[in-house]
Amino acid sequence: MPEDADVVDLPGVTLLPGLVDTHVHLAFDASPDPIGALATRDAAETFAAMCVAARRAARAGVTTLRDLGDVDYLALGVRAAARADWTLPDVLAAGVPITTPGGHCHVLGGAASGVEGVRAAVRERHERGVDVVKVMASGGNMTAGSRPEAPQFTAEELRALVDEAHRLGLPVTAHAHGTAAIVDSVASGVDSLEHASFMTADAVDDIPHGLLDEIQRRGVALSLTLGLKPVEGFAMPPEMASRRPKLIANATAMRASGARIVVGTDAGIAPIKPHDVLPTALVHLAQIGMSPAEALHAITGRAAEVLGLGDRKGKILPGYDADILAVDGDPLRDPAAIHRIRAVYVRGAALTAPAIRP
Ligand SMILES: [Zn+2]
Repeated sequence: MPEDADVVDLPGVTLLPGLVDTHVHLAFDASPDPIGALATRDAAETFAAMCVAARRAARAGVTTLRDLGDVDYLALGVRAAARADWTLPDVLAAGVPITTPGGHCHVLGGAASGVEGVRAAVRERHERGVDVVKVMASGGNMTAGSRPEAPQFTAEELRALVDEAHRLGLPVTAHAHGTAAIVDSVASGVDSLEHASFMTADAVDDIPHGLLDEIQRRGVALSLTLGLKPVEGFAMPPEMASRRPKLIANATAMRASGARIVVGTDAGIAPIKPHDVLPTALVHLAQIGMSPAEALHAITGRAAEVLGLGDRKGKILPGYDADILAVDGDPLRDPAAIHRIRAVYVRGAALTAPAIRP
C-alpha cells in the first residue's frame, strides 16, 4: 500500500469490481418517448443530460458503460470528459449506429446502404474515433414502420461492414432481434450480438439447430437485454409479456451452451430502463440458470473482457483501475445486497464520502 494512502473503514461490506453495462443510450432520457424528447434539445442540452445520465449509473456502481447509439457522436465527448471528471464513469462509444435508409433509429443520422456505403460509414466512424461499430442488423421496436423480426441489410452488406471494421481494428456489435438477422450477423463475423431475442412478428422462434455451437465456436458474445425497474403506469406491453417464457427458455439454452453472456440493459429507452438499471439484471440472470457468482461475473469481469477492457477493468487487482463498489452484506448469498451501496469508487475517487480512519 502506498504510504500516503487513505485508509477507509467499511465494516460489514463486500467489495466488488465496478459494474459494466455493455449497452446503454446516454442520449435517451428514459421517458416514454426518448426519440421525441431528443428532437426538442440542442446538442449542448443533450450533452449535459448525457453526463447526468452517466453519473446516475456511476452512483449505482456502474463504473463502465458502452454507449451503443447517440446523436452527433456526443458520447465521445462524454468519454473525453470522464478523463478529467471522476464523477463520470468510463465510457466506450459507438457514436451513431449504422442503419438502413428509413431503418431502425435512422433519425439518429446513421443511414447507409450498399457494400460501398456501409464500408464508408465504418471509415467515417473510425475517423471519428469510436470504440466499436454498432449496426442495426434487424428492425427494432422504437421506430415506426420498422419490423424487429426482419433483417435490414443483405448478408453481403453485413460481411463488408464487418470486414471494413476489422481491417481498421474495430469490433462490431449487431442489434439483432429476428432469427435471420442473428444468423446473418454471426456468419458475417460480428464480435457480439445485442438482444438476440429471436423475435417473430407475434412470438419467439426456436433457436436454429447448430447456431449456439457456431456462436460458441466463433466466440461471439451475447449482450442480453435484461434489467428493469418497475414504474407505475409503464407496464410491459402485453405482446412482450406473452413472449417472456420463450425468451427466458432461449436465454437459458444460450447460457447452458457456454456462450459468453453479458448484460446490455438498453438503458434510456423507456421509463423502466433508467441509466442505473443494471443491478436489477441479477434477478434475470438467476432466472436463466446463473449462480450468484456467475451472474456477478457476467456484469463485471466477463463484461470487461467482452469490451476489450479485461486488462484494467472488471477485477480488483494491483494495476487495475480502482473501480470499486462496496455493498452491505454478501451478494454471493444475497444478490439483493447489490442494491445496498455503501460506497462507489470511480478510478480510485470516492463518489460517496465514507468515513476515513485518521
Ligand atoms: Zn439499444
